[in-house]
Amino acid sequence: MQRNDLAAAVRLVFDERQLLHRPESYFRRGAFVPHPEQPERAVLLRDRLLRDGHLLTAPRDHGLAPILAVHDADYVSFLQTAWARWCAEFEGDRPAVPNYHTSRRRGRRPEGVVGQLGYHSTDTACPITAGTWEAIYWSAQSAIEGAECVLAGEPLVYALCRPPGHHAYLDSSSGFCFLNNAAIAARHLQQRYARVAILDVDTHAGQGTQDIFWQDGSVLYASMHLHPADYPPYFAGYGDEVGAEAGEGATMNVMLSKGADDTAILTALDALLAAVRRFEADAVVVSLGFDMAADDPLAEVAFSSGGFAEAARRIASLARPTLLVQEGGYLGPSLSENAATFLSAIETASPGKAP
Ligand SMILES: [Zn+2]
Repeated sequence: MQRNDLAAAVRLVFDERQLLHRPESYFRRGAFVPHPEQPERAVLLRDRLLRDGHLLTAPRDHGLAPILAVHDADYVSFLQTAWARWCAEFEGDRPAVPNYHTSRRRGRRPEGVVGQLGYHSTDTACPITAGTWEAIYWSAQSAIEGAECVLAGEPLVYALCRPPGHHAYLDSSSGFCFLNNAAIAARHLQQRYARVAILDVDTHAGQGTQDIFWQDGSVLYASMHLHPADYPPYFAGYGDEVGAEAGEGATMNVMLSKGADDTAILTALDALLAAVRRFEADAVVVSLGFDMAADDPLAEVAFSSGGFAEAARRIASLARPTLLVQEGGYLGPSLSENAATFLSAIETASPGKAP
């Protein structure tokens, strides 16, 4: 039976306030360069998907509890107040960017905003601006709302999270990410689904997500990404990182080489999907980056539009309740088209949708 347009729609969760974080620049390779994580990304994705007939839902406000189920309370409190404290201390409206970081050795949380900025971030890629808290709060709420829809029985939901989340640790920002939307959603889904798999297909290792669930055997973190030896996040995402204690074996990293093509990327995906099946996941969160696209400004692999479609079909074959959580994917020519292709392919191939 032919699906009509309505039957082929996927619920897309997004809130306009996610556009309020506007980082202008960040420090890269010795210079301040334009920041790639721009609000226009979300506008492009939303508008393109609405043209395809997908259904836009604004998230309800689920409050801080689902966020605090993952993140450190001092960190969340810092994020809420950092901009006001920064402005009170320094005149002007320059973005709050750290210039001190803790070492890997013992370091304590200081009282002042400059020191806390360094304490709660791993890099200079997460400037805090006037609208940052509102944007990251509603980005997380979109993920939580998406998880609520899945808990209510919807088989496939897309949370258009922006700013992204998979680099964020429980108590620090990292790599454009502040709150770990996928981790928050996965934890939220555990109200009903005991075993949740996070399948990360962004081109960067989601080392924040990995770290959050490192000792947790109830959440599988399975990621494919460019080898971190010479690519962010550099310090984690290697193949021998498998989790520890109760989480040993519930972390999987498949590394790609520079220039990896559709065949190599889909082979890596198959290894992740086999792990999800072995794990017997009850539900799946996909950390969905489009920055493997050959024309993405940050990409060093070459995934094609057809590759994204095939990846979507293979993910659908897991036949589990699935929440897609937007991660990376920057302002390259094919960004919104790849999202449309992926969503159409995964919806068409998903079981459980009424014909
Ligand atoms: Zn990425």
